Amino acid sequence: MKKVPFVTKDQLEEICQTYPTPFHLYDEAGIRATARAVNKAFSWNEGFKEYFAVKATPTPQILNILREEGCGVDCSSLTELMMSERCGFSGQEIMFSANETPAEEYVKAAELGAIINLDDITHIDFLKETIGCIPETISCRYNPGGVYQLGESKEGFQVMDNPADAKYGMTREQLFEAFRRLKEMGAKYFGIHSFLASNTISNDYYPDLAGRLFELAVELKNETGADIRFINLSGGVGVDYRPEQAANNISAIGGGVRQKYEEILVPAGMGNVSLYTEMGRYMLAPHGHLVTRAIHEKHIYKEYIGVDACAANLMRPAIYGAYHHITVMGKEHQPCDHKYDVVGSLCENCDKFAVDRMLPKIDRGDLLVIHDTGAHGFAMGYNYNGRLRSAELLLQEDGKVRMMRRAETPEDYFATLIWDEQDAPAH
Ligand SMILES: *Cc1c(COP(=O)(O)O)cnc(C)c1O
Repeated sequence: MKKVPFVTKDQLEEICQTYPTPFHLYDEAGIRATARAVNKAFSWNEGFKEYFAVKATPTPQILNILREEGCGVDCSSLTELMMSERCGFSGQEIMFSANETPAEEYVKAAELGAIINLDDITHIDFLKETIGCIPETISCRYNPGGVYQLGESKEGFQVMDNPADAKYGMTREQLFEAFRRLKEMGAKYFGIHSFLASNTISNDYYPDLAGRLFELAVELKNETGADIRFINLSGGVGVDYRPEQAANNISAIGGGVRQKYEEILVPAGMGNVSLYTEMGRYMLAPHGHLVTRAIHEKHIYKEYIGVDACAANLMRPAIYGAYHHITVMGKEHQPCDHKYDVVGSLCENCDKFAVDRMLPKIDRGDLLVIHDTGAHGFAMGYNYNGRLRSAELLLQEDGKVRMMRRAETPEDYFATLIWDEQDAPAH
């Protein structure tokens, strides 16, 4: 589908008068519309809840918008738990799905009453030792092993790998043993979680995963007697980063899951099981733009456009070769007759937002919108080369722009350094 920015050039130029480029801009109306479409697609399931994956966009105002739309949060670290707590999430609005989990994170998750999702069977004893008991409600993460490639993009594959090579979750045998042991140790209500593929461009991923997990749930219930209350399909629903890709259809996905539910769970007397999701990318990616300005052009063996953003603001192209569409603002109707590499300033040649991309002629000063940066965009930022993270702005539903996070300053970069007198002699 044709990629159209959610702001106009005039709007952006006005925003730039207050907030210099580069910055991440998010679209409140779009975020709400997606959240509503997701809730509608699964409204046939009474207990449905989307637990937004905080790691995708860890920004309080975004979490609060999603909360207003009925979403919970999926956390995987202490700071994500703390941020969710500060936003007012508590109890079973929080899913805690970590791996290689430090003890203090289980303590915090238990203190908040979050649903704990165990990544490994050895974590049963670790959790018991750490918090002194096994919570009433507990979830286990399943890894079926083998190969799984349903509708997964190349870079999605780099994120997750094949289940057999992925570090996450328990084997089938371990899962049965874990449920038995947890039950003996006092757990009353159980959940199953699994995440097999990332950035899937297919309406079949969730239904396929759901079918496998529903069958497993029936067996687990029959063999261990566990009271299974929810099944968590986790994340992995992708977005159409490329204009030639077809977007996933969330209502078709919800319908596909429903069919499996009615085929497998309902006849097994499990028609009251709640479905959970933990989408990050699908919820937010299309509703964020990285806005940057062309500051240089360079003509050597290739044609380069240098912009004021770099991989420190958006790492996905550098690490996965991920495609992000680019719109040159104000030149939407000009022919794409120039072949450019659009590059940032890092001393690493992978710092390219686009390679051999056909675009309209770009002049210094042009504003560029890099699309679909709302998830795993700002969040993956880093400080290599002394580059600083940008501001995050929200385009509110009323058309006003609000700063949610200021840009870092050099003082932030220096803040964690311990200066001794001899390192910083007085001049
Ligand atoms: C990363 C992650 C998600 C979100 O994945 P998306 O591909 O952004 O939907 C959900 N759950 C867990 C446990 C994750 O690690």
